[in-house]
Amino acid sequence: RAKDEGRNQFRFHMAELDRQLRERMMLAADLHLAIERQEFELYYQPQVELESGRIVGLEALIRWNHPTRGLLLPTVFIPIAETTGSILPIGKWAIEQACRQIRLWRDQGVVPPLVAVNISAAQFKGESDLDRIVANSLARFGVAPCALELELTESVLMETTQKHKGSLERLRQLGVRLAIDDFGTGYSSMSYLRRFPFDRIKIDKSFIDDVATQNESIKIVRAIVTLAEGLGMSTIAEGVESADQVDKLRELGCDQIQGFFFSNPRPAGEIAGLLAQKLEGGHSAAGYPPPND
Ligand code: C2E
Ligand code: MG
Ligand code: MG
Ligand code: MG
Repeated sequence: RAKDEGRNQFRFHMAELDRQLRERMMLAADLHLAIERQEFELYYQPQVELESGRIVGLEALIRWNHPTRGLLLPTVFIPIAETTGSILPIGKWAIEQACRQIRLWRDQGVVPPLVAVNISAAQFKGESDLDRIVANSLARFGVAPCALELELTESVLMETTQKHKGSLERLRQLGVRLAIDDFGTGYSSMSYLRRFPFDRIKIDKSFIDDVATQNESIKIVRAIVTLAEGLGMSTIAEGVESADQVDKLRELGCDQIQGFFFSNPRPAGEIAGLLAQKLEGGHSAAGYPPPND
């Protein structure tokens, strides 16, 4: 009996694995065609300076309008794209699209703040000419390098060889800004600060989640803020969802916040209206958004 049950569980498990594998393979095949079918879209999430309450940046977050599955989030398809190589054209598309959108806003009389684009490790590893891709996109849309920031995670930096370090340095010389994403979650966050010239540290959401209530998180965030100040970098807290977190982060001297508390990521068309709004006295001017995109 126990044996039968075990066998059934095993069969169920295999069927589930098989389903997941086929799902991945189908998505991988669809991904291949998604760029030319224009199914990707960048959403933008505001980054707010605590001192002024103003939006000082927008993080570009990719979405996939899948023809049958609806809106897919990057956590579903970026890991697949990273293993199939699709991440190279997708990453290039994201950089170009961000530049195209900055141009479009300007042409509409909207002055966009800094726009930050995420760079994946596989993307950086696959092309040592990231600096050329970025420079070409900026030139094509007449965008100043200082209007663009690249967000790199530690997994990007971990795999960075001398060849890629050259690419990062050329990006810096070009005047593009660099941020370290999900800071504090990697193996040796500190060593990257010494080796690469960042403008901004994004403090990982896991430290921000209980920064209003837990002593350890408070101490860690305080230490990161002090460290950043000493190195001449600014700090932004990721995943800020409550007024209590905003108050605490202000007290700790964190420079900026990003999270559902102010706004979730929005389609480009909704950004012009948002830019006029300010964070007032710790309260969200944009209002608490629906939990999903
Ligand atoms: P990330 O760069 O750390 O982006 C922050 C993620 O946190 C986003 O998820 C955002 O929607 C979510 N978020 C923002 N505020 C809150 C909050 O208050 N609470 C909670 N629970 N979540 C919040 P998203 O858009 O699903 O993106 C997930 C990850 O996918 C990103 O993490 C980034 O690593 C990657 N990604 C997104 N767009 C791109 C892209 O164009 N290229 C590459 N290579 N990766 C991308
Ligand atoms: Mg990011
Ligand atoms: Mg992040
Ligand atoms: Mg994160």
